Amino acid sequence: MVEGLVQGVGFRPFIYRLAKKHQLVGTVANRTDGVILNISGDEKRIDLFTKDIELLAPLAAEIRNVNRTYIDDFISDDFYILPSKSINDQITEISPDIAVCDKCLSDLKKQNHRINYPFVNCTNCGPRFSIIKSLPYDRVKTTMNKFKMCPVCKGEYHDVNDRRFHAQPVACNNCGPKYYKVGGSDFSLILDEVVNAIDKGGVVLIKGLGGYNLICDANNEEASLKIRDIKGREAKPLAVMFADLNVIQKYCYVNRREKELLSSWRKPIVLLREKKQLAKSVNSGLGSIGAILPYLPFHYMIFERLYTSAVIYTSANISGEPIIWKDEKASSTFENKVSFIVSHDREVENPIDDSVVKVVKSKTQIIRRARGYVPNSIALGEKVEGVFAAGAELKNSFCIGKNQSAILSQYIGDLKNLETFDFYKKVINRFFNLFKFQPKIIVCDLHPDYLSTQFSKDLVKANLNGNQIPILNVQHHHAHIVSCMAENQIKDKVLGISFDGTGYGSDGNIWGGEFLVCDTKSFERFAHFDYVKMPGGDIAAEEPWRMVLSYLHNYSLNIFKKLDCFKNIDDRKIETVNEMIQNNINTPLTSSAGRLFDAVACLLDLCSINSFDAEGPMRLESLIDESEKGSYPFSYNNKVVSFGQTLSGILEDINLVSISSISARFHNTIINVIHELVNKMKKETGINKVVLSGGVFQNRYLLENTMCKLEEDKFEIYTNRLVPPNDGGIALGQLIVASNYL
Ligand code: ZN
Ligand code: ZN
Ligand code: FE
Repeated sequence: MVEGLVQGVGFRPFIYRLAKKHQLVGTVANRTDGVILNISGDEKRIDLFTKDIELLAPLAAEIRNVNRTYIDDFISDDFYILPSKSINDQITEISPDIAVCDKCLSDLKKQNHRINYPFVNCTNCGPRFSIIKSLPYDRVKTTMNKFKMCPVCKGEYHDVNDRRFHAQPVACNNCGPKYYKVGGSDFSLILDEVVNAIDKGGVVLIKGLGGYNLICDANNEEASLKIRDIKGREAKPLAVMFADLNVIQKYCYVNRREKELLSSWRKPIVLLREKKQLAKSVNSGLGSIGAILPYLPFHYMIFERLYTSAVIYTSANISGEPIIWKDEKASSTFENKVSFIVSHDREVENPIDDSVVKVVKSKTQIIRRARGYVPNSIALGEKVEGVFAAGAELKNSFCIGKNQSAILSQYIGDLKNLETFDFYKKVINRFFNLFKFQPKIIVCDLHPDYLSTQFSKDLVKANLNGNQIPILNVQHHHAHIVSCMAENQIKDKVLGISFDGTGYGSDGNIWGGEFLVCDTKSFERFAHFDYVKMPGGDIAAEEPWRMVLSYLHNYSLNIFKKLDCFKNIDDRKIETVNEMIQNNINTPLTSSAGRLFDAVACLLDLCSINSFDAEGPMRLESLIDESEKGSYPFSYNNKVVSFGQTLSGILEDINLVSISSISARFHNTIINVIHELVNKMKKETGINKVVLSGGVFQNRYLLENTMCKLEEDKFEIYTNRLVPPNDGGIALGQLIVASNYL
């Protein structure tokens, strides 16, 4: 018995060929819980065969366990692949989409029927999740169903010794999908035109795997600005696709682990440190580059012809909306704004963005979990069947429980946007159908106004067939911590440090700098960052200068130096906000760590108004002088951490000390806060396990140095590796709290 992700990745044909190689007879079949093998033959050969299963398994297979038991009366004359027997044998593991493999790339040049065929694939590579309509994974249940295989492809599909044996999306120039210019000619005819347009500074819209992408030369500032204009995206960094690893190394610093990730079959966007600048507006001076390598055959085909070796490669959408995957929508949105629209006739069933990851302390941290990762399930070691977790509001992703694992949806986005909320509902519907999911309990955030909370309530009503489905609200920061506990299958109590921008607290205030003692059922708020007012509510998150005024007021700090960060803010606005603060007009309270980072970035005049989420904190982090070991004082009283002394220290340093040093000192202060509090918590509770989660821990300097400092004190430290530490991972935490409640 082989357990793990072993279906839809060419596992059975692999076993067949392996058995033949070792001269063994027997059978292989899919089952709900894995792949079952019956093998008979020489004992030594069986040993070697078992070893080879793990050594030589297909790239995208994830083997969790190989169990071996002896049976007495098994006889077979040859090796056979058995079909799945019944409905009960249905498979719920679906493979994510897999980047094109080297063998297929060489087929592009060699195989007569696949010369320059941009949809080449085999059992080891190609589209999976993005084209699946229903299970089991068979060609008729994918968007490949409308293409009738030609005799040559059919031959390959049925030949167990062929690399394309049972490769569901198998296709060739004679029978498969085709690229074409919208309103124009064949792709092969316009390939040179497309390449020319990019090299000459044009923007091209091309349908890829999970939707459309906008592409232009990454060294052309004008083109880059044009993409920003088209998307309505002012400053958020744009991903860059490089021709190969050597080119990436010209522009970025890449370590061994980052190289592995970039080249892996998942082919995510990897956030790297910038070495040499591309067009300025690509990353707006943030000092990092989101790099990705080609993953579709057509990527390789255009790089072969392009003069430039780096292109901006970004999802085609209007800022805040989901990726566009339909032709009509692509045309109506981008017509007249781009040089070309290139589409193809293989439909996208499950739209999906590129994933974004980074390496922290030589381990992967996922920032956006999508292509290549979804719908890989997360093993939990406990039954969670029937739990639907709605997720949070920003960077939403929801989660369903199947057997003992969690299946997290692809990155959905910010639900406040109407189109994105529609997309959310559509994807939920698809997941329910695809995975034959029946909700038994629904769990959502504690925030009454989150659209995901509203949706959950509606879902309860819709399912009112006599018996009421229970609904549970889970506190946001508790869910962050439990998401990390779930990944690590921790059941006992932990010290949870949950730092982020916003989350609804049990006292009705907005939390975000939280020290929790919790297990997977409940939590106790041990301590938190000081409450300060958010003048204007949510808008204070977009306009950090408001938070600066609030902190200054809160700690009675006089502005003894005229602060640069107010130079572009209207005096009357400043006056109004000050009045709001003094008279408590629309000033909800927050203990958010995100707002504190915002305010410090603003004080240093790095960002008075955020043009994208966490812009200020990201700029602050990018400036850190790592040789600076100093820090500022803070105070801790009555379970509250106060930053009055920290901020007055910063105010004293402004104009005297470099911004890089101030930034380092501030970060070191937060690390000291965590260190001191965690030690206090341990003293009171005796707990040694520390969980760090929440969007603020995407800050590499903060996370690495906090971990180092806590490791010195022999704490056991856990961080998110399989789901994002940001709100994209919340649903997993919600799911576990709900299953424990059941
Ligand atoms: Zn392949
Ligand atoms: Zn064919
Ligand atoms: Fe959060």
